[in-house]
Amino acid sequence: MPTDTLPNPEKNPPAENSGELIRLEQVTKRFGDNTVLDHLDFSVDAGKHVTLIGPSGSGKTTILRLLMTLLKPDEGRITVDGQQLFPASDKEVREVRKQIGMVFQQFNLFPNMTVLRNITEAPVTVLGLSRDEAVERARELLDMVGLAEKADAHPAQLSGGQQQRVAIARALAMRPKVLLLDEVTSALDPELVAGVLDLLRDIARSTDITMLCVTHEMNFARDISDQVLMFDSGRVIEAGTPEKIFSEPEHDRTREFLSAVL
Ligand code: ADP
Repeated sequence: MPTDTLPNPEKNPPAENSGELIRLEQVTKRFGDNTVLDHLDFSVDAGKHVTLIGPSGSGKTTILRLLMTLLKPDEGRITVDGQQLFPASDKEVREVRKQIGMVFQQFNLFPNMTVLRNITEAPVTVLGLSRDEAVERARELLDMVGLAEKADAHPAQLSGGQQQRVAIARALAMRPKVLLLDEVTSALDPELVAGVLDLLRDIARSTDITMLCVTHEMNFARDISDQVLMFDSGRVIEAGTPEKIFSEPEHDRTREFLSAVL
């Protein structure tokens, strides 16, 4: 895989060479009467791969959506790479958002644009790259995700697995420090899941990008995670290495959850 297409530690140094990249402090999110996150604290260190697991409805996706600024917390503070994401002005939010890439369950590609245009759009409009630079970066990424020959196709002409690879390339084209992955294989036909997970394993292994994943793929979580956080009702009830969480969970809820999904 061409390493110059991916976040480069020299060009894109992690905050203070390590330490916290993402920090949530006392974050509360309510939907009407439903308090989904209740004074949640957690942090993710630069370069680490952290996976959120737990029952459906426990608030995992809400956390990713808060980090993507698709939602706003009701209370609390969120910082990314030392810059405040909430509370923050629109201008501050736009700056911090450049550091964050997200891949969604439903790919969310622009249907009316070619694959190449999907990948070049944000680097040109948000980062100010020239069209040529953006195309060069996009072609390297398409090569990396194994879709060099699909540059001129439209999303509807691709399989779900191919669309998700394009979505991954699109996120990486912004050279983000953080990659948020929201159940990225849940919408795929079973035979397409392994290819996308292998690609993400490669990215996790070969780059310094910080990853925060929500997944039901426990083998994937075990392989790529430095830390696994078990959520229940909007709280982290247990956190640890994958070895600890999957082999010696301490909490009854974690044991129940794992026995249901493994
Ligand atoms: P998970 O990712 O763990 O399955 P979510 O973060 O998607 O959980 O959802 C947590 C809770 O928030 C659920 O009860 C869900 O119904 C509720 N919720 C999520 N998004 C919205 C929304 N836009 N409007 C109302 N309720 C929501």
